[in-house]
Amino acid sequence: MLRTALAQLRASEGHGGATVALVPTMGALHDGHLTLVRRARAEADHVVASIFVNPKQFGVNEDLDAYPRQLAEDAAMLEAEGVALLWAPDVEAMYPSGFATNIGVAGVSDGLCGAARPGHFDGVATVACKLFNQVQPDMAFFGEKDFQQLAVIRTMARDLDLTRPHVDAIIGVPTVREADGLAMSSRNRYLTPDDRRAAAALPHAMRTAIAAIEGGDDVATALAGLQADILAAGFASVDYAELADSRSLAPLGTLGKTPARLLVAARIGNTRLIDNMAVNAPA
Ligand code: AMP
Repeated sequence: MLRTALAQLRASEGHGGATVALVPTMGALHDGHLTLVRRARAEADHVVASIFVNPKQFGVNEDLDAYPRQLAEDAAMLEAEGVALLWAPDVEAMYPSGFATNIGVAGVSDGLCGAARPGHFDGVATVACKLFNQVQPDMAFFGEKDFQQLAVIRTMARDLDLTRPHVDAIIGVPTVREADGLAMSSRNRYLTPDDRRAAAALPHAMRTAIAAIEGGDDVATALAGLQADILAAGFASVDYAELADSRSLAPLGTLGKTPARLLVAARIGNTRLIDNMAVNAPA
């Protein structure tokens, strides 16, 4: 079914064949996802979106069962955005009994969310590799919202020849935010109204810390201040608040000449939120 539909899409542009972009998602779509779709439509002839709530990327005590599922509503949104094909396999089709393969991307998977959520990025890499092989896209779009995920996918796609060589086929899209600055996320709908209001303190506190670091303040002091601000705003705990090299994601104790990123994961109520922003090196 998928193969036939893809062959038809490919054939739609005559001799050279049409280009296909993949936008992988777990559904419960919001404007962040739709921004990926719009970027993909601008770059490729056809967009294939996938919706799959991937059990392999959830830990045992995480929110797999509670994760919002609204396939009919999502399908209508994707159709309205001009998506040519929605690929929404069920768990048995993706992981038939006897499924035994695991893909691990060393290095970029290790710290940050990888340390806080053991096995998470193996699950992400394994499902993304399957989606690439199933759809065989010319390019794929991922959000910078999940900055470490983007690094994992880029590394895997290069290492396993999932995309054409020497082509930047993994395209990162800047984070789409709510009016108060909170990064859009399917998990924001878990928040109580009070927690939702308090959650906007996260990006604000991050911007304050970035201004301090860019202004030459000591990084460790700025990160300690950031943690304190997040907790003071009503968050229950901070999984991590780190300055990292944008490419390797290795932790940085000082701001150097290479691009840097501030990355945070923090819990409010029962919800774990992540965010990240660029930090500019001094001119
Ligand atoms: P998810 O459904 O959470 O797995 O996300 C699917 C894709 O949408 C991933 O590449 C995410 O990074 C991306 N995404 C999620 N939220 C946002 C956002 N607020 N802005 C940009 N991209 C996003």
